[in-house]
Amino acid sequence: MIRHGFAILLLTALTQVGGIAWLLALLTRSFGRFFVLFLAFYTALSVGAHFAAPMAGRTALPCLDAGPTQVAVLNPLYCALNRNYVTSAMKTHADAVASHMHEQFPGTRTRALDASFPLLDGFPLLPHLTHDDGQKLDLALYWDDAAGTYQLARAKSIIGYWGFAVPRAGETQSCADETGLSLRWDLDWLQPYLRDWTLNEARTGAALRWLANNPTGTDYKLFIEPYLAKRLGVQSEHVRFQGCKAARHDDHIHVEFRP
Ligand SMILES: [Zn+2]
Repeated sequence: MIRHGFAILLLTALTQVGGIAWLLALLTRSFGRFFVLFLAFYTALSVGAHFAAPMAGRTALPCLDAGPTQVAVLNPLYCALNRNYVTSAMKTHADAVASHMHEQFPGTRTRALDASFPLLDGFPLLPHLTHDDGQKLDLALYWDDAAGTYQLARAKSIIGYWGFAVPRAGETQSCADETGLSLRWDLDWLQPYLRDWTLNEARTGAALRWLANNPTGTDYKLFIEPYLAKRLGVQSEHVRFQGCKAARHDDHIHVEFRP
């Protein structure tokens, strides 16, 4: 029973509807194989949530490439986990930065990481405590391979997160001596397994500059590590530091505003 309780909590935290699918599979398991039932319920609930999302004021970001003027998710896994929902105002804003990037660097793709779940304001998308209403979106940074060639629609890590830009000599990483309970994960053990890529500074700087120069809605905020904002030469009242207890922001740019 504890095992099922844990699975329900974990799946709810990861996918919003997964815990309900698990529970329904448990209740109906005399009718078939548990995992087949779970997958069937999960798929049905995810599709249902997709169609119900507009009632919660949310729309899905594309799961696959939709051309250079639309922000799609970096990895279809974000769609499989129902983590690709934003308000239509956020989608418009994200597509505007993608279009700008395509104008500046033709063909460039702008990619999203975690957005929000499809339903219910106030339901956080763990581990992000604030992604709970479709008004927050994490955008991937832009990357070059080891030879310095821009990598279309790809990032240092396959999910975008945890493949960090890392400070250069002379740059200071904030919170380097942070201790205690924190969501600021460095994941040092993972770094040797990631791609040996470097930040595409021209593209990442252009995207951050456009975002900073085009505030929209109210309470417009962009989070990125301070050393990166400085390196990219972007200063703005909208570019903030998220603090030492939140996730590192040298693998993505967090965008948020209220319409
Ligand atoms: Zn975020």
